[in-house]
Amino acid sequence: MKLHEYQSKQIFSKFGIPVPRGRVASSSASVKQIAEELGSKVVVKAQVLSVGRGKAGGVRLADTPETAETLATQIMGMTINNLPVYKVLVDEAINIQKELYLGIAIDRVNSLPVIIASAQGGIDIEEIAQNSPEKIIKINIPLLLGLREYQIRSLALTTDLPKNYWRLFMAIANGLWQIFKQYDATLVEINPLVISGDSRLLALDGKIELDDNALFRHPDLVELRDLDMEDPIEIEARKYGLTYIRMNGDVGCMVNGAGLAMTTMDMIQLFGSEPANFLDIGGGAGAEKVAAAFRLILSDSKVKSVLINIFGGITRCDEVAKGIIKALDKIKPQIPIILRLEGNNAKEGHELLARAKLNVVDSFNEAAKLAVESVHKA
Ligand code: GDP
Ligand code: MN
Repeated sequence: MKLHEYQSKQIFSKFGIPVPRGRVASSSASVKQIAEELGSKVVVKAQVLSVGRGKAGGVRLADTPETAETLATQIMGMTINNLPVYKVLVDEAINIQKELYLGIAIDRVNSLPVIIASAQGGIDIEEIAQNSPEKIIKINIPLLLGLREYQIRSLALTTDLPKNYWRLFMAIANGLWQIFKQYDATLVEINPLVISGDSRLLALDGKIELDDNALFRHPDLVELRDLDMEDPIEIEARKYGLTYIRMNGDVGCMVNGAGLAMTTMDMIQLFGSEPANFLDIGGGAGAEKVAAAFRLILSDSKVKSVLINIFGGITRCDEVAKGIIKALDKIKPQIPIILRLEGNNAKEGHELLARAKLNVVDSFNEAAKLAVESVHKA
């Protein structure tokens, strides 16, 4: 789950990381009012969960409240990387002297958090990382000890941060680490971290990404989720505890277990098509959940055939069969449904499906092949 810049900055503030004064707005009239209240030049910033808002024209400086209002109207009509802009953040404009980068992420290679800094932050950070990786400094954070003072000093030194900012830099890095730990984040990032004309060090932009698997420990954060930014099918899937991820192909898949789901997607590709989705109904899914999963797949208009691939362990094939039949009670799909159910209570499942005039294919191989062939016939 990703947080918006304005949400991230609110959390930064709580942890002692200085941010520009500002407020979020969802109408251009309130943008004008906020700009008046701030009483300075402002920056109007699209709140979308996407990188590169600046380059897309979603971050604009305004000299007057009237200009801020006009710009807000323009920005709120934009889509950035397919995401509609419904809100803007209005911040006091900062006179930027220098843009740095500071963030904490998960280093998957070393299985540790990593703090990353660069003396050259800002909108070109990706290019810098690509073309001059030596300008990006990375230090792993040991889990047992946490972020150590000497590590932060080392970052300050290698980024040539002037000495008078070191104390504040320490506090900011520590704040980021506290947020990373306490919120079960996978990314906390300040880009740019700026030195301002009036000698402040502050987070001009903020990004926090949370680990969905740890969200149950943070009920208060779940409310920060912005459903406008998400796929409606994925939102619906979450309600049923289903793991659904939309893909680009046309073979819908319903599988139990992430490993089998991925293998199923591979098989679809092997036979020459692309999966429309990843969908794991999980272990021990009952008929209700299966029916919901099936409806979700069928609600995607890209889907030209459905492959249901179940290997019953904890999951019972007869429960899955009941769920499928239940869903078919309400919707009559015009596309081929290919079923393969093996394992726990497979015989009972097959019988139920046969009574409902649904054929079950014997092997995984055959099922995947059929699912792909029926797309090409469609
Ligand atoms: P991003 O493009 O989505 O990362 O959005 P940012 O919030 O990082 O803004 C992009 C760029 O806009 C920054 O790197 C700055 O160069 C510029 N910018 C943002 N806020 C201000 C501001 O208050 N004053 C000035 N002068 N530039 C700003
Ligand atoms: Mn940025």
